[in-house]
Amino acid sequence: MINISYENIIENRKVEVPKNLVWGHNFTDHCFLMDYSTEKGWHNARITALKSLDIHPAAMVFHYGQTVFEGLKAYKNSKGEITLFRPQKNIERMNKSCARLVMPQIPEEVFMEAMKKLVTLEKDWIPTGYGEALYIRPVMFATQPALGVKPSNSYLFAIILSPVGAYYPEGFKPVKILVEEHYVRAVKNGLGECKTAANYAASLLAADEAKHKGFSQVLWLDAIERKYLEEVGTMNIFINFDDEIVTPELNGSILHGITRDSVITLLKSWGMNISERRISIDEVIEKHRQGKLKSAFGTGTAAIISPISHFSYKGELITINNGEAGELDKKLFDEISKIQYGFAEDKFGWIIKI
Ligand SMILES: *Cc1c(COP(=O)(O)O)cnc(C)c1O
Repeated sequence: MINISYENIIENRKVEVPKNLVWGHNFTDHCFLMDYSTEKGWHNARITALKSLDIHPAAMVFHYGQTVFEGLKAYKNSKGEITLFRPQKNIERMNKSCARLVMPQIPEEVFMEAMKKLVTLEKDWIPTGYGEALYIRPVMFATQPALGVKPSNSYLFAIILSPVGAYYPEGFKPVKILVEEHYVRAVKNGLGECKTAANYAASLLAADEAKHKGFSQVLWLDAIERKYLEEVGTMNIFINFDDEIVTPELNGSILHGITRDSVITLLKSWGMNISERRISIDEVIEKHRQGKLKSAFGTGTAAIISPISHFSYKGELITINNGEAGELDKKLFDEISKIQYGFAEDKFGWIIKI
């Protein structure tokens, strides 16, 4: 086991979590860092005061994009305990992303220990309101200063923490979505299953153009037939057809969302008819004409559930549930929130106390 040391820890600090937290703009005082080289493997695991990095402009990450990240949250629950939600899943997914990008695996026990130790040191940064949390952002990238396309021989693994406010301070609010007909996010057997920078770079222009047209995000269709639903913005998507709830099957271009998995597990436990299958945009429109499109929502760690009020496709605007969040959407949001904040029983063993 790699030993985690403490270096340059700030003594006698007084933590004051800002009142109006803008998502992802505030960071705690310390971070975790660990180096990798092909000669030494992982070494120099340390928790240290957060500061800017000294990195060579030739570092391979800037040129060839070897970088992967993760996102999860630490909570202070109703009993004052500090918890993580399904962190093992994030560790496994990060290592899968690394494998795809020819980056080294992170030893699972070091990854888990690093998150627990860092969150424990920074526990006063965890906001305590319902819906508030400390967002954990692990990231790894290629540091070798060399030009030429090949896998780097050195990497840095970092974990930073960001206190975040409730996602819906003004109530559970649905968003307008543009069905993207031109751009694609990812293609089967490409990088779509990885939390890697390239996918987000590929998505920015579509999101930007959608914003200018008055939409919050885009709905991505498959890159080959331009017919089947993939994801919504940076979230997985679910459609409630009343007698059947559907989400796209994991086909090689869709991110394996942990919230997606939690939603499927909950729906099954409630005895609901949930299928993972291909869903064409034409089917969604047809079901809407038949009055069977009850709700649609995105799933992800940041929002948990993001209800959709409208889809725009080929110039036609479809309004779902009179523009209101669906009952099922709200029920899922409430149930997952309650489990995370210790107000509902953790039947599936999702919560890890630290
Ligand atoms: C992170 C992410 C998700 C959601 O994953 P969760 O594990 O539920 O947070 C979905 N799609 C994309 C593209 C993502 O990056």
